[in-house]
Amino acid sequence: MSEFSNESVSAIEATLNDVDRALERLRVGTYRSCQVCDTPIDEAQLVANPLLANCPAHPELA
Ligand SMILES: [Zn+2]
Repeated sequence: MSEFSNESVSAIEATLNDVDRALERLRVGTYRSCQVCDTPIDEAQLVANPLLANCPAHPELA
C-alpha cells in the first residue's frame, strides 16, 4: 500500500530530522557554529549544504 520502500522512508525521516535540527539551531542562534567545537562554519559551505552542522574538523558528527 506504500509506494516507498522502508529505506526511502528512513532516508526521508532522517532528512526531515536534519531540517528540524537546522531550524532549531537557526532559532537559538547556533546555526552557523559547529555543534562539536563552536567554530563558525564558512558561509559558502552553508550555502552549498544548508544542513551542515559541523566544521570541516568534525564532518560526520551530527
Ligand atoms: Zn568542529
